[in-house]
Amino acid sequence: MKEMKFETKVIHVGGEPDPTTGAIMPPIYQTSTYVQSSPGEHKGYEYTRSHNPTRTRLEECLASIENANHCLVTASGLSASTLIMHMLPKGSKIFCGDDVYGGTYRLFSKVFPDIHHYQFVDTTNLKKLEEKVMAEKPALIWIETPTNPLLKISDISAIAAMAKKVGALTVVDNTFMSPFFQNPLDHGADIVLHSMTKFINGHSDVVGGAMMMNSKDLRDKLFFYQNAIGPAASPFDSWLVLRGIKTLAIRMKAHEQNAMKVAAFLEKHPKVEIVVYPGLKSHPQYELGKKQMKGSGGMITFFIKGGLAESRRFLENVKLFALAESLGGVESLVDHPAIMTHASIPKNVREELGIFDNLVRLSVGIEDCDDLIADLEKGFAKV
Ligand SMILES: *Cc1c(COP(=O)(O)O)cnc(C)c1O
Repeated sequence: MKEMKFETKVIHVGGEPDPTTGAIMPPIYQTSTYVQSSPGEHKGYEYTRSHNPTRTRLEECLASIENANHCLVTASGLSASTLIMHMLPKGSKIFCGDDVYGGTYRLFSKVFPDIHHYQFVDTTNLKKLEEKVMAEKPALIWIETPTNPLLKISDISAIAAMAKKVGALTVVDNTFMSPFFQNPLDHGADIVLHSMTKFINGHSDVVGGAMMMNSKDLRDKLFFYQNAIGPAASPFDSWLVLRGIKTLAIRMKAHEQNAMKVAAFLEKHPKVEIVVYPGLKSHPQYELGKKQMKGSGGMITFFIKGGLAESRRFLENVKLFALAESLGGVESLVDHPAIMTHASIPKNVREELGIFDNLVRLSVGIEDCDDLIADLEKGFAKV
């Protein structure tokens, strides 16, 4: 399947017509169990927590677009992260990027510290990171690139190479770029993780997660924990993602086109202090982004001039940009990380990272861009 192009894979891999009826759309196998002809004799499916044909189709499609041999689809992005943590031997040392999704930070700092040892490190400073990796030999390095919400970029191939020197696994949370703009396994990562809730499904109607890997051994270990613990995605959610993913390529192109225009608009706006977008030459890691990403995505972060009061007035007066958590849907969303998505990070840690009260995060949708810019202008007019 690897010879097909991305745009073809999202439509055809896992999308073969139903062999029994010829239905062009795959059925939703809404079943919990499967009939056996004799004890232990079945068609590869025994119980839906373990396997389901609709989920299998989605896993095939997702593996193909991340250039991976294997994929496991889970009930949420965070449950995928949870399974990776359960797979590690007790007491493992984990280095995690210091600017990660708030829920990842909460999982690693509140749920798992009794089991593993976590250190939150700056994965954008390669020299310091390498010294620390060599000295402390972690079992796993977890990076998110670009990060949420500050869009900092980490060098996947350099980090995967240093991890290999000490036998550590590299996990990349690729939610922000989606498989369309970045393929971390091609840069040496061992596992790539997605919140399918975001760009992969793209329609804000499913919560789900996925992990892709090339190693069969890693896949089998993670599958054991998925089956033993239970966070498998439902047949219906898997089907919805199979439906949403067909347009992933055209959606990502549209997100990026709009985001480029919005970022350029914000950069010139007198009420904006700083705009962070990987597609802008002003992004501090613009060159690294160009090296490992095939595009710059649909997420923009900016600092409004002023503080909480100014942010609030802006956020209350935009209408097309809906004030909501999450991202990656066809509709535009706006988020105030300090109060909303990143509230689980203590204020002092947030501010050390640069997540101040005047920081606003946009998930730029695929609406008409002039309408989006007019909407932002309405918000700024009230500031
Ligand atoms: C949303 C998100 C997650 C968590 O995924 P859920 O599907 O909400 O559990 C993980 N990483 C990033 C970057 C996210 O945006």
